[in-house]
Amino acid sequence: MKRRRRRPAIATRPLGNVAGHFTREGGAKKRYRTQVAAQSAAQLAWTLNGVDLSSYRCEHCHQWHIGGGSRED
Ligand SMILES: [Zn+2]
Repeated sequence: MKRRRRRPAIATRPLGNVAGHFTREGGAKKRYRTQVAAQSAAQLAWTLNGVDLSSYRCEHCHQWHIGGGSRED
């Protein structure tokens, strides 16, 4: 049986469109210092798991994340 537990509000919760910085669980995503590093990670994910990810610059931490695996179509 799962107990629903609310996490305490994070003080540093950002404003604006920075959803790409966080995972669905509310944690910070893995950051990459360069686009090349992010693209390498995306390429690896494709090779290993067949998931199509893209790299993007984050406005919150000014580094790079990869994402785009949640397709709904
Ligand atoms: Zn970020």
